[in-house]
Amino acid sequence: MEQDKLENRALGVSSIEENTGIFGALYLRISRSKGENEDTLQNHRELMAEFCREHDYTFEVYEEIVSGGKHQLEARPQLQKLLRNLGRYQAIFAVSLDRLSRNGLISQIIKKECIEHDVKIITPTQTFDLAGSEASRHLYDISSLYASMEYEMIGRRTKVNKMQRARRGEHVSGRAAYGYWRNPDTRKLEVYEPEAGMVRYIFRLYLQGLSCRKIADRLNRDGLKTQQLHDFQPTNIQQILSNPVYKGTLVFRNRKRIKKGQVYRYKIVETIVTEDAHPAIIPTEEWERVNWDKMDRGGATTLTRERPADKIGDTLLKDLLFCGICGRKLKVQKNQQGTLIVKACANRLPDHSKARCANQGIRLQILEHEVLTEIHRYQGQRVAELLQQQGRTSTLTDLHERLMLIEQQLRENEKEQTELIGPALARKLPYKQLKKVHTRVKQHPVLQKARDKIRKQIRDIATLPPLDSKTHRMGSFETFQSLPVGQRNEILKQVIQRIHYVRIMPEEIRKQSTRSPERQTYPFRYTIEYA
Ligand SMILES: [Zn+2]
Repeated sequence: MEQDKLENRALGVSSIEENTGIFGALYLRISRSKGENEDTLQNHRELMAEFCREHDYTFEVYEEIVSGGKHQLEARPQLQKLLRNLGRYQAIFAVSLDRLSRNGLISQIIKKECIEHDVKIITPTQTFDLAGSEASRHLYDISSLYASMEYEMIGRRTKVNKMQRARRGEHVSGRAAYGYWRNPDTRKLEVYEPEAGMVRYIFRLYLQGLSCRKIADRLNRDGLKTQQLHDFQPTNIQQILSNPVYKGTLVFRNRKRIKKGQVYRYKIVETIVTEDAHPAIIPTEEWERVNWDKMDRGGATTLTRERPADKIGDTLLKDLLFCGICGRKLKVQKNQQGTLIVKACANRLPDHSKARCANQGIRLQILEHEVLTEIHRYQGQRVAELLQQQGRTSTLTDLHERLMLIEQQLRENEKEQTELIGPALARKLPYKQLKKVHTRVKQHPVLQKARDKIRKQIRDIATLPPLDSKTHRMGSFETFQSLPVGQRNEILKQVIQRIHYVRIMPEEIRKQSTRSPERQTYPFRYTIEYA
């Protein structure tokens, strides 16, 4: 750095720190032929305004959009005007030299005028004191040639450019999220399969009804570790579940350092969200389901979307209830007390009269109870079989998934151990690395034990006899009752085709309040159509 300064001084180039309080002309130019547009101009304007603010420069703006390949002075009235006014300024500010000129003749005219009026040319990376020294003029000539490279260089570094790239879906800040790696050629995220499996597993466990703490416990029980080789904490799970990166969405937060009292804080000034920026690990629908569900379970979440008013989630008889009179599907909704109600049908009858279907509603729980009692009595065996079949498949899927993750970490462990144990024992590793190796070595037998146990469980399930005893059947129904409502609904859908429900009340009862006992206990009937 010090060396650079000395060299610059020898060349007659003063470093920018020495030039403060200068009044100059800010010249901005974009070229349509290079595919640039108003956005580029806006980016340059913001970039230069910030640069000038930082250095206490004040300025007047000259802007032009050049179309076609015309770079002659005639095609650039604003540059002409600037040169006419040049006597008023101490400097010309530009994003880079090539913004002033990519043309040898124009750059020579600018140089001549600047020398005549003792005006410096200042870009974010260089200052040219053309009147000051022969060396500076020489550098100006050479730099004009390299100007386009300079533009590329600063362009890549600026925040404005970062934001533009974020809009294109490029990963521009920080480390890639767990489950991804950043491809340096495309600058986009790509799925890193060894870690992606863990992400999918975490989402699946959550959808099975496990809390963040339970998921963390389960991963830790198998000896699995985070990227930094720590035990999983509920917050790690929480962060993974709510990160939109996993549905392919890129979120870039433009932060600004602002002074608050005596301390500097970072404040988010703009958030850029780009959907489909990179391949998803979790299908959007599944990601949304998890994050809706997190709100329902009251978990803290970063999402602040409004939830729709009519959302009631899964119910035991979802998609199974039909009107026994007109045949239409019945709706379930919450009443003001929060009780779930099967709505009165009130559909138009298909007989072209203006009459509406008179089928009345009922508290869902009452109907559910009736249906379940009947299913238990007449379809218990079938439910038990389905349960066993489903239980076995989902347990097997779960076991295979766990086995895969454990084997993955075992491979990583072995790799790192063969690479690093030698240097570690020879005391050639820094402490931090040593600690990592130590964790790996400790983790290894835990993982091996978990792996062997799971392998045994998989073998055991494969050799289980089919169940048929009556006691097992009763036990199964209890198991059924303990399942999450969504799963119970799925099983019922395999047993039941439709439930046809009918409840017609005489006018005088229907007119009574919904709290009247006579109305509440008015009979209904239903028939179950089995699958
Ligand atoms: Zn109806």
